Amino acid sequence: SSVFANILQAPDDSILGVTVAYNKDPSPVKVNLGVGAYRTEEGKPLVLNVVRKAEQLLVNNPSGVKEYLPITGLAEFNKLSAKLIFGSESPAIRENRVATVQGLSGTGSLRVGGEFLAKHYFERTIYIPQPTWGNHPKIFTLSGLAVKYYRYYDPATRGLNFHGLLEDLSSAPPGAIVLLHACAHNPTGVDPTLEQWEQIRQLMRSKGLLPFFDSAYQGFASGSLDVDAQSVRMFVADGGECLAAQSYAKNMGLYGERVGALSIVCKSSDVAGRVESQLKLVIRPMYSNPPIHGASIVATILKNSELYNEWTVELKMMADRIISMRRQLFDALSKRGTPGDWSHILKQIGMFTFTGLNSDQVAFMTKEFHIYMTSDGRISMAGLSSRTVPHLADAIHAAVA
Ligand code: PLP
Repeated sequence: SSVFANILQAPDDSILGVTVAYNKDPSPVKVNLGVGAYRTEEGKPLVLNVVRKAEQLLVNNPSGVKEYLPITGLAEFNKLSAKLIFGSESPAIRENRVATVQGLSGTGSLRVGGEFLAKHYFERTIYIPQPTWGNHPKIFTLSGLAVKYYRYYDPATRGLNFHGLLEDLSSAPPGAIVLLHACAHNPTGVDPTLEQWEQIRQLMRSKGLLPFFDSAYQGFASGSLDVDAQSVRMFVADGGECLAAQSYAKNMGLYGERVGALSIVCKSSDVAGRVESQLKLVIRPMYSNPPIHGASIVATILKNSELYNEWTVELKMMADRIISMRRQLFDALSKRGTPGDWSHILKQIGMFTFTGLNSDQVAFMTKEFHIYMTSDGRISMAGLSSRTVPHLADAIHAAVA
């Protein structure tokens, strides 16, 4: 008999499991609104034109090699990534007090940050929003941090529970780490306003709480890279410390290339240098060094003003299509006279709408309409198209009627 005979079958990942179920369904009208990946109006995955161009440049570059990158990744990529999130004029970058390492997309960058904090930071508790991306509690628990939640979403308003958020952060122990979604909060699509961000910043700085930004959707939410980085830049502008994990999965469509970055903003270049030396000790035994291809694509685009501009146009096109899906779904429900207030579909930001549908309603929609989504009622607007909106509206209408 097998030495592994007693191993239990693990459940499917709650998000990736939606796609597994979708793939098994033979229905021609099935729609997958589960996974957080962009689809075109035709329902197809999209490789950005600018990415194809960058890849051509890389292929034709005779000096292109497949050697190992340094432990911290492609230096040029790291510099450009820090500029992208903190702004090209950021004093923190100019003063050389940002330690940036290339990471395995957003997930890997969060994990390296978590491991670093568990090893070197005095308050090993991280507060994450309730609810949040399902991988957050797992990443930080396995990093060695104690995970606690702060109130974030108010089901009654389908908006921000700002009072609860402030209360929970006020009672966090001094120095506690706070995970903040830089923009386009997943799964709720609910972001603080700039005024609310400012209040959060003041509270956190007065209590010495350490901000850890997860930026998985820069440019993808509003269509503007600068607008979507405003929250992060507010915290850097006050001169204090913070961490930021960046992902190029959504905004460059580089999902499977696993390209991202972790930056730690410090108060001096001397500290940043020591922080970077310790990040290397975290990375080396985990995966030795990061992959070269995706980071080379990103660096090629970010350093060339023509390609960069082309990227911003394609990025805005993706963001605009998602925003237009919000409008179309809202209009389709209004037309049907579907009971309830659906204005949150228009108000929420980014890839997802947190519909407010409960797990029974979701199960009904999957069974009767072949619509696949996570049981918390989250739908990926990027997976919708003008063709599938009426079908989804019919399903929601039937589910709530
Ligand atoms: N953080 C959030 C909030 C996300 O939604 C995602 C992806 O869905 C990620 C991080 C990380 O994604 P990746 O590791 O593919 O960059």
